[in-house]
Amino acid sequence: MVPVNKDFVNNMFSVEGKVALVTGATGALGSVLAKAYGYAGAKVFMTGRNEAKLKALEEECKAEGIECAYGVADPAKEEDVDALIKAAVAKYGEINILAVCHGYNKPQNILDQSVADWQYIMDADCKSVYVVCKYVAQQMVDQGKGGKMVVVTSQRSKRGMAGYTGYCTSKGGADLMVSSMACDLTAKYGINVNSICPTVFRSELTEWMFDPESAVYQNFLKREPIGRLAEPDDFVGFALFLSSEASKYMTGGNYDCSGGYLTC
Ligand code: NDP
Repeated sequence: MVPVNKDFVNNMFSVEGKVALVTGATGALGSVLAKAYGYAGAKVFMTGRNEAKLKALEEECKAEGIECAYGVADPAKEEDVDALIKAAVAKYGEINILAVCHGYNKPQNILDQSVADWQYIMDADCKSVYVVCKYVAQQMVDQGKGGKMVVVTSQRSKRGMAGYTGYCTSKGGADLMVSSMACDLTAKYGINVNSICPTVFRSELTEWMFDPESAVYQNFLKREPIGRLAEPDDFVGFALFLSSEASKYMTGGNYDCSGGYLTC
């Protein structure tokens, strides 16, 4: 019988000393995950397009004793991402964890939506995931130590919705991209690639759905056995798990983290 190693068990959830790159760090989930990696002892390199928000977040994190820095980048632009990876490596020497938390939606019926609007969503939610993961993967391969990629997609990657031909398509594409990247990157290079698929959680854009009296909220609760909609910190545990050695046998998965949304 192969014994379980005590040191492994005691340290398997640790990300201490690792370097985590967080995209969409200016958003609801990205800012929470950036802080969470920092609280867990990782060095955090944060990115987004909004420099003022990144600067404010950096100050907030530093005040909490978190080792962090930021770089401004549009994740769909190759030249931005190339420069971003170089800046992160110049600052911290390597990248061990990637958390992809940026995203965008502009719901529109396909009959009203322009092809340009649809393409914008595809670039923001799908092409950008490809570009960021491709550049980080190359960096991790060059480092020769493996790595962890966690991509936040959506339960909408698995089911359609009115007005969502852009969002559902791009999130579905991102989930399949995650599975395909695992086939390219895990066995040969030790890079685990997984996605987290949430339902609604609180953000600036979704705040309006959290009125307990509203029909939207009540309808959601019928599909949420957990009895509430999510807060960004509900995903911290799973993201850290997928970023640590505890999840060493998990790759290519699109994991439900939705309060039981799929069960009823
Ligand atoms: P937020 O809207 O709070 O933040 C997302 C960040 O993405 C923004 O801060 C913004 O940063 C960046 N972003 C916005 N538009 C674009 C764009 N066109 N191109 C590139 N980056 C862009 O998002 P959440 O924290 O709510 O969501 C995080 C992830 O989870 C997203 O992928 C989202 O689709 C997904 N999700 C969210 C749900 C929810 O209910 N909130 C439910 C299910 C999935 P900046 O402007 O600095 O670039």
